Amino acid sequence: VQLTDDDETPVRWFRINTILTSPKQFYIDHEFFRNLQPVSSIQELNQTGVIYQDDYITNLYGVHPREKITSTPAYERGEVIIQDRASCFPAHILNQNPNDIHKYVIDACAAPGNKTTHCASLLPPDQSDAVVYAFERDTKRVEILKTMCGRALGKDKKSLIQITHADFTTTDPKDFKDVTGLVVDPSCSGSGIFGRALEDAQKEEAAEEQVDTERLTKLAGFQFKIVKHAMKFPSARKVVYSTCSIHPHENERVVVDLLLDPEIKSAGWRLDKRENVIPNWERRGWKEEFTSLADGDEKKCEQLAGGCVRSVPKEDGGIGFFAACFVRDI
Ligand code: SAM
Repeated sequence: VQLTDDDETPVRWFRINTILTSPKQFYIDHEFFRNLQPVSSIQELNQTGVIYQDDYITNLYGVHPREKITSTPAYERGEVIIQDRASCFPAHILNQNPNDIHKYVIDACAAPGNKTTHCASLLPPDQSDAVVYAFERDTKRVEILKTMCGRALGKDKKSLIQITHADFTTTDPKDFKDVTGLVVDPSCSGSGIFGRALEDAQKEEAAEEQVDTERLTKLAGFQFKIVKHAMKFPSARKVVYSTCSIHPHENERVVVDLLLDPEIKSAGWRLDKRENVIPNWERRGWKEEFTSLADGDEKKCEQLAGGCVRSVPKEDGGIGFFAACFVRDI
């Protein structure tokens, strides 16, 4: 993807919020979007006036970053949610298999709520009590989460998300006996984020962290703890772990540590097969990182890496990202 400005997002991604509208109704209602010319690749988004429908994520579209979509009535009404493509991976992966329906879902680290509202949009529509339980421990961020979810749910769909201001690791899994799917997107170094979306202070911090192994190790310890807690929910059969970091310390190495943990092993958790984790997305986990789990067997390393996806900042049309999908049979 060619960039004219080093600081610029290559593509502005948005989701049609199917909680409030359908793609068909969206195009009927919104002339601005109807008038955009469809193109078949993100490389063609080198001008305004065109739109790309994503090949990987349903109801996700890309436009030129200078397209003023936040000034449209669709955005004001909450029918458009700006969300990077890679950030849509976790909710998509959780719900990718149509034979594996998750009616009760947890978003463990929810604010500002992009993945929460995406998960809510994918709840089974015929189940009136289906819900996403969203946890956020930060006092300020939980308010942002409430505002974002309020916008995305409108007046009639408030029951789809239940927000709790709490540290997820203090929850008792026994209180959520019906939860089958969890999305865990904890705080990370943010090293995959770039451009205007990132405040200058954070940018400096992220740059420092690229060389600060001690800080990465600390983050990895916290990430391990929070995913391990997610794996304790009695009916959980899928846990999607993600970061917006490019560092293996916070990504594959956390995954490997989890899979080596005796409690997690005996509970039957494993990485899912590539075919269940956005199979056509080429960039997978780093297979070299799985050597210790595979006795050096290269095929096995590749298989394990296939349960993870990566996105390279800018090159893949957005932020740097990592997601791993854990499953177990219960
Ligand atoms: N998933 C969010 C989204 O897509 O909009 C972004 C999540 S952000 C990377 C991580 C969030 O997790 C932060 O808001 C942070 O305050 C929160 N957090 C960190 N540790 C937590 C914990 N133990 N329990 C609940 N929330 C936590």
